[in-house]
Parts: sequence; structure tokens; C-alpha cells
Amino acid sequence: MSLSSGLLLRDFRLVDETMDMLGSVWIEGGIIRDVFPQGAPLPEIRLPMHRTIQGGGSLALMPALVDLHAHFRDPGYPEKETLESASLAAVAGGYGTVVCMANTKPVMDSPAKARALKKRADALGLVDLYPVLALTQGMEGKALSDIPLLKGPLHETEPWLRMLSEDGKDVVSDEILYRALQEARRLGIPVSCHCDAGGPEAEEAKAAGKPREFWSRIEENHATQRVIELARQAQGHVHIAHVSTREAVDLIRKVKGAQQESGHAVFTLTAEASPHHLCLTEETAHALGAATWGRVNPPLRTEADRRALIEAVLDGTIDAIATDHAPHTERDKLQGAPGFTGLETGFALCRMELVRQDRLSLSRLSSLMSASPARILGLTDRGRVAPTFRGDLMVVDTEALWRVNPGRFRSRGKNSPCSGLTCRGRVLMTIYQGRVVFESFLNPDPEKETG
Ligand SMILES: [Zn+2]
Repeated sequence: MSLSSGLLLRDFRLVDETMDMLGSVWIEGGIIRDVFPQGAPLPEIRLPMHRTIQGGGSLALMPALVDLHAHFRDPGYPEKETLESASLAAVAGGYGTVVCMANTKPVMDSPAKARALKKRADALGLVDLYPVLALTQGMEGKALSDIPLLKGPLHETEPWLRMLSEDGKDVVSDEILYRALQEARRLGIPVSCHCDAGGPEAEEAKAAGKPREFWSRIEENHATQRVIELARQAQGHVHIAHVSTREAVDLIRKVKGAQQESGHAVFTLTAEASPHHLCLTEETAHALGAATWGRVNPPLRTEADRRALIEAVLDGTIDAIATDHAPHTERDKLQGAPGFTGLETGFALCRMELVRQDRLSLSRLSSLMSASPARILGLTDRGRVAPTFRGDLMVVDTEALWRVNPGRFRSRGKNSPCSGLTCRGRVLMTIYQGRVVFESFLNPDPEKETG
């Protein structure tokens, strides 16, 4: 990128967590230099290399999205996804920053492996990638990974390391998880917990042949309670991944409430929900095939759970929306592999289901998908449309109707629960460090419908 290139975005609806107004934005050298309210005189631009993009109609300019939870499957599973295909999917979905999980082959359990992936991502120059480090070697739950060898402060030694997680394999040993939480505290970063180490009651229900929706609820509720307790003892930061039950929501709300009341918190608790748990229910899972295309961990739950999640988003119990993008091949899905591809539909699904009847404003959605997850990662330079922030932005048509066709995804994973669904709201352009890395303006989608 030439540092003398610039981008002028004119007459847009500008939306971030602090504002919703008309105006224009000037980006230069990868950074937002100026934001002009509508009617203010625009500067005369003398740069030889600059591009003007005109807003208007239902176009909004928002901060690029920040995803706390994705699976890039790289290295090890090119039939499911690669760094390249996942990065293209991310920018097509409006993402500028992505945290990717460690359950690759080999597992990301040493800084050297994660650093190598980060280096490849930087060379691609599409998204700012933050590989997580696994808590234990090989994600086997037996011995801590290389975390104790890391030296702080991380922003000087390993600035790409912002989160630790064992993802879909909760560490069963309290002792090891406790030590991992202490290490994370020493390093000043959160541990993302998947919450499926279910405890004896869930095991009994399983042994008694109860259905998955029954025991997986006990699992999640028990595991959420357990990791919160361990985080309290370790005085660390636990981040609860993809909360899906109303009981887990109630527990998180209660703990956060008590922290607020006491005025001082000995540990930090944050939580995310996924677009699919916020917008879909078990009905969709059954229609798709609960053991195949509709299978995801944790499972899609009841309408009452979904409503509880939305309430939790509205009252701040849930801090962020994260995709848990989990691409699989058709063969793997037919054999029951859990997970949905999600990077390319996350925004549209949330825009359609949550921003209606004014329950959630577009500004609040921006907070949940950009500024708030950035804060959880300690990234203070993104998530706003304001001078000095990174030029990571997206242009969306808030009213565009389009039908989801996984055949057109950039992701290799076509396992979307939204296939055939007509969504409202579409990402049309993604800007990364001041460069346009995705655009569908000039290439109108033949499937795009108006209405
Ligand atoms: Zn995951």
C-alpha cells in the first residue's frame, strides 16, 4: 500500500457504538484522519492517488467486524477450509479482525506455530488474525501448553496473542484449568471457555439414554458454573463462548450484577453469543437434520432460550456476538460433524432478526460485533468511525434483501443453517487498513433481490 493513497467515503450514514449520523470519512495511510458531519465543507484533496466512494440511500458505513471465535482449519484440514478461503470469507462478511481457534493439525500449542500462522495471514493482508494458544499440549488436557514460557508484557513480546482457549475440548482437570487461568491472568489476557465439561449429572443422563437436548443443557449449565468458580479463585478473566441456555444467561447476569453491586470485581467475566443461537431454534435444527446439517455445539435450543439470549444482549449480560465459524465438508456433516459456517451470514442474520421493531439499534449491533469484542481483546485502535482509529470499515446496505446461497460462499464450508433464507442487510464493501479488500458494488449479484 502506498502511504500517499487515500479514500474518501462521502455522504454515508455513519454508525458506530457512539453515533448514528450522516457524514463523510477521510482515510489516509490506513488510518481514519477525519470525520465530517453532513454539510461541513470537505477538504480539497491533493493526493494523486485517491478514490471517492459515494454513499446515500440505505448505505451505512460502519466499523469492520471483530470476531472472537472462528475456526480456520489451517493447518491440517484443507478440505474444510484454508487460511486463504477463510480470510476471503471473513472480508466478504465485513470482518477486519478474527480470533481463530487452536484445534488445527497440529494443534496451536506453541507460540512458534501460532506465530507462523499470523505471519502468513499478514502476508495475505486481508484480516488481522489473532491465533489463540491451546491451554494444554495437543489439547489433551494433561499438561499445560507453552503458556508458562511466555514473558509479559505481551504487547511488547507477542502482540498477536490476545486469547487462550481449548475450544471444543474443555479441560476436565480443575487443577490444570485453574493454572491456565492463573497464567492468563499473569499475561493479562482472557481464557475463552467452551463450557461442555458436563459433570456427573450430565453423564448419568447420557448413560440413561436421554436425548442430546436434555443432557447438553445440563452440561453447559454445569460447565458455566464451574469455569466462573475457577476464574473467581484464579482472579483471572474468563470469557464464556457461545452461551445458549437461559439458565447460563441467568447465572452470568447474576454474577455480573453482584460484581457491579460490590463495586469491585476480583475477576473478569465476559460472554459471547453466536448469530445462530440468537436467531435460530431447534426447529431449524430438526428441519435440517439434528444429527447432520443441523448439528452444532451447543445445539440450537428452544424459543425461550433464544428470547433469553436476546434479553441478555439488550441488557449487556452478553458482551459480544461471535460467529463460531466452523466449516466442514459435506461428508463430515453427514457423519455428524458439529458446526456451521458463519462468517458470510453473521451480520445479515443479526441485522434481520435483532434490529427490528427498534429493539436493538444498528449502533448497538455495531458495538456487539465490533467495539465490544475489540475491547475484550484489548484492541483499542479499532471498532469506531473516528479520527485516529484504524481504517477498518465496512459498507452495508441495511435494507438489501438477498437469498443465502452457500454455493456462492468464499468459504469452503457450505454447511450454513441459513441456506435458502432471505436475509435483510448485506455487506457490500470491506476496507482493511484503508484498502478496499472486498467489494460487490461493481459486480451486482444476479441473485440479489430488491424489495
Ligand atoms: Zn468453536
